[in-house]
Order: sequence, then structure tokens, then C-alpha cells
Amino acid sequence: MALDFTLAAFETFCQQIAHMPVFTLIDYLTRTTAPPLPFVVLRFDVDYREVHAVQMARIAERHNLQGSFYFRHRNGNFDLNAIRTIAALDHEVGYHYETLDTCRGNFDAAETLLMEHIGALRAAGLTIRTVAAHGSTPTAPSYQSNLDLFRRRPELFERAGLVGETTLSVDFSRVVRLSEANWHWQRYAQYQPGAKGRKTSLRAAAQDLPHLDTGLYVTFHPQQWFKRPLEMLYYRWRNRLGRTFPRLYQIVRFSQQLKLQREHGRREQQQ
Ligand SMILES: [Zn+2]
Repeated sequence: MALDFTLAAFETFCQQIAHMPVFTLIDYLTRTTAPPLPFVVLRFDVDYREVHAVQMARIAERHNLQGSFYFRHRNGNFDLNAIRTIAALDHEVGYHYETLDTCRGNFDAAETLLMEHIGALRAAGLTIRTVAAHGSTPTAPSYQSNLDLFRRRPELFERAGLVGETTLSVDFSRVVRLSEANWHWQRYAQYQPGAKGRKTSLRAAAQDLPHLDTGLYVTFHPQQWFKRPLEMLYYRWRNRLGRTFPRLYQIVRFSQQLKLQREHGRREQQQ
């Protein structure tokens, strides 16, 4: 049996849901009739390692499944190659926004930046109709989560030409939510931002799925899904170490960076 968080395990999940109705967020939000039960909504928050998202998009497409992939604006850019590749496979692509974090809680600046980023994606020929909030520690006391931008400014949906937001526009009494943030599968019967879920596994959720009398809304973080099990285990343990012993993790990272800088310096001297 394939190890969780490997592409082989993701492929098994795709096989298990291939005969069910599976929706992107935009398809789910714009349906005019209730979907037949049980159904699945597939969401991917691409925090980094965009190449992993491309691999998962290809696997899903091989099983005729379409999902929604949300991308961050990182290091001054979007990875347009990855985004275009995924859009060309008929998946939905959207913006994974964190502009309240970036603008340190300034709502006007956060709205301007959000419009700018959505505009950049559209200028690249991409259709953007939904957005997903990135979850991280707030950078100012003026807000609690990036979701607050749309919570406090609901008219922003119209101004930005958006149909919805992946949390605020979903009625979670109709879907069970499943997420694997930080490599831990959590199940939420009535999801609310900040709520604590129940521990589960993808395998258990897939087995329960045929008996569900609601839909299943799954969020994947492609950066946690690896082709090689050993590579996955390495990053998973590194993440766990970092969360358990943040100081130790910082020291390890710092010494790695020092070593790299020293090697770089040596190479420059040789040239
Ligand atoms: Zn994120």
C-alpha cells in the first residue's frame, strides 16, 4: 500500500473517487441544482514547490478529475509556467492571497495589491474566478486572518470580478471538510475557520466516502506530496522537528546557510 503523501497514494485516491461527481470550486459554487451524493470538491493550496502541483494536476487529469489550484505570489512573481500548464489540463486556477499579511494589516493597501495580483494573472491569459486565503500568523493586530479582507469588504468580490472565496462562499453544513495542513489529516463535520478537526487519514476518509450523506471537500497542499517516499519522510520529519523545536531548527538552518555561503565564497575565489 502506498505511503501517505506520496504521488502513488494520491493516484490511489483519484482512482477511488473517479466514478463519483468531482467538482472544482467554481463548478461547485455556480451549480444551480444540488449535486448527487456523495460528491467531492478538490482544492489545492500551492504554497510553494509548484512543480509538485503540476505532477498532481497531471495525475488527476489522467483520471478525468478536475480540481482548483490556488497560487501564491512569491518572490515578486507567479510561477506562470506551472499555472498555465495546470490551466491547460482543464483544472481551475485561482489566486492564493495573503495581502493583509504582506501589507501588515492595512486594508486599503491589501485590496490594491490583491487587485494588482489578480490583474497580473488575467493579463497572462488566465481566467480567475475564485480565490483562497493563505493561512499564517497575522502580521498586525488589525486583522485575524487574510479572510478578513473579504469579510469586511464583501463588495470586493464584485470589484475584483470574483464569484467566490474557497472558505467564505462555501456552506460547510453541506460538505465534510478534509485537510492535511502540516502533514496531519483533519476531518471537520461543520467546518469553521479556526475550528479543531478530528484526526483521520486519507485512506479512512476514502473508505467512508460512499456512506457519506454530504459532499467531501478536500484541501491538498502539493508541497507536501512527493514522488519518492524517502524524500517525503525527510521533509515531513524536518517539518515536525521545526514545529517541536523551533530554536534547534533555526540553528540547523542557520548552519546549513553558513556552509552554503562558505562554499559559494570558495567557488568565487577559485574563479
Ligand atoms: Zn497557503
